[in-house]
Amino acid sequence: MRRWNGWGDDTQDYPLPEGAAHFLEEALGPATPPVDAALEDVLATAPPSRLPPHPLIVTDAETRLRHTRGQSFPDWVALRSGRIGPLPDGVAFPTAGEEVRELLRYARDAGARVIPYGGGTSVVGHINPLPGDAPVLTISLARMNHLESLDEASGLARFGAGVTGPDLEAQLRARGFTLGHYPQSFEFSTLGGWIATRSSGQQSLGYGRIERLFSGGVVETPTGTLVLPDFPASAAGPDLREIVLGSEGRLGVITQASVRASRLPQVEAFHGVFLPDWERGREAVRAIAGAGLPLSMLRLSTPGETITTLALAGHDRLIGALERMLALRGVKDEKCMLIIAVTGWEKVARTALREALGLCKEHGGIHVGQTFGKQWHKSRFRTPYLRNTLWERGYGVDTLETAAPWERIPALVTAIESALHSALADVDERVHVFTHLSHVYPHGSSVYTTYIFRLAADPEENLRRWRALKGRASEAIVAGGGTISHQHGVGVDHAPYLAAEKGALGLGAIRALCAYFDPDGLLNPGKLIE
Ligand SMILES: Cc1cc2nc3c(=O)[nH]c(=O)nc-3n(C[C@H](O)[C@H](O)[C@H](O)COP(=O)(O)OP(=O)(O)OC[C@H]3O[C@@H](n4cnc5c(N)ncnc54)[C@H](O)[C@@H]3O)c2cc1C
Repeated sequence: MRRWNGWGDDTQDYPLPEGAAHFLEEALGPATPPVDAALEDVLATAPPSRLPPHPLIVTDAETRLRHTRGQSFPDWVALRSGRIGPLPDGVAFPTAGEEVRELLRYARDAGARVIPYGGGTSVVGHINPLPGDAPVLTISLARMNHLESLDEASGLARFGAGVTGPDLEAQLRARGFTLGHYPQSFEFSTLGGWIATRSSGQQSLGYGRIERLFSGGVVETPTGTLVLPDFPASAAGPDLREIVLGSEGRLGVITQASVRASRLPQVEAFHGVFLPDWERGREAVRAIAGAGLPLSMLRLSTPGETITTLALAGHDRLIGALERMLALRGVKDEKCMLIIAVTGWEKVARTALREALGLCKEHGGIHVGQTFGKQWHKSRFRTPYLRNTLWERGYGVDTLETAAPWERIPALVTAIESALHSALADVDERVHVFTHLSHVYPHGSSVYTTYIFRLAADPEENLRRWRALKGRASEAIVAGGGTISHQHGVGVDHAPYLAAEKGALGLGAIRALCAYFDPDGLLNPGKLIE
């Protein structure tokens, strides 16, 4: 069963190798986990539902609790401490568009607010009910998860929007296709959620972000049903898919979506390269991205992340041997790990890999084969389970992400990391910070930073620490010319920074769109924009 107050399936763990525990203690000091609230105690505090009864809506406390929070750090503090805040008053699991339309009519008549819910993996407060007098109805798309049709000639697959990553891939792979969209939250996040948050998968370099994969679909709005037809391209005015992408549940409920699938690749391989330092690593990936080679992933770690990854891996002897080999070839303490993935037709993949490795070599890179790449690939959806392990050892962990043109990347990374390093100086706490470039483009790159810090016993103090960290880093992002989000969306946590990016006119246009599709303000109020 899925954990109610942490990440993932409760039969799966990610034990921390002893060397890694020692590494963290050295970096941050020994820690003590805060005391967790028990599920029964939290359920006992659930207030009664304020919704009038409806056959499609369930109102038991446990279902409501399990749909009340996502996966952000404040969500974890709320769930672990039992200070949950408002619960939805009911959760509906419709099976068809007609039922969604019925639920929207019911919500309007009941004066309720509606939160569309995919997999609940939001990390910015997207799906949390906010305090208020109106009852809250969460509409889960979990039962709308089937492959409705597959046009094999065009590679167009239409799904119910509640399909999760593994179910979507399994249904496509059974027919010889793949979507290739692999956010780290793949195990639980859904197609509708990916579209509503403008998600990006780990192999977006090859397959494209969700914007490129989303072909069309159906959105149920309080004003009516918006149908987005499938065209390979169109010059018929503004593209209405663009207003649904990133709409964060504010315009309507996406019930069906078509995606542009690809034939299963002939080959796929993940290779490791070590670059001598951060500057040469950056220049190598910039050159590769600029050359337009058909790779599916380029993921470059800073020296800090490289050291941390090798320490957390726990294979001390293998890593010792690797470090000695690299040192002999001049790649030492400042080394940066790069993972290159090639996916597709064998001949094309072979050529692309050869050219990419050649560009790495020009920048001092040493190719170490597939061992590290394979290891990364094997554990790519397991890594989030480490969050549970760290919390249970007394450490909080969070990530943040942005994107900017290449020219700004070096200063931006330095500014984000130094803002985080010093954010808890007032309580004399250290912060362990590391970064990678997770998605690269010819004209810039995304930046993905992880920070780990010690938890206090008091949930309020943990929130205060997180606000200091998140606030300082977000200010550094805005000042450094980065977007407030490359892939996680806006939700509540990034909303204060949106005006800096969109401007007053832009925000006004978004607000007007929401008002057009949702004149009574039923849908997900307080998220994306006020
Ligand atoms: C460990 C971890 C790793 C992550 N890694 C990545 C990553 O690699 N790339 C990435 O892009 N994101 C990542 N995320 C963030 C998150 O998984 C994405 O934002 C994801 O797209 C959310 O999908 P979901 O189905 O869980 O949506 P939810 O969390 O359920 O909802 C998110 C928002 O979308 C709206 N929404 C959901 N479904 C619908 C629908 N059918 N119609 C209308 N609105 C809807 C909701 O109202 C809400 O505003 C990660 C999160 C975690 C916890």
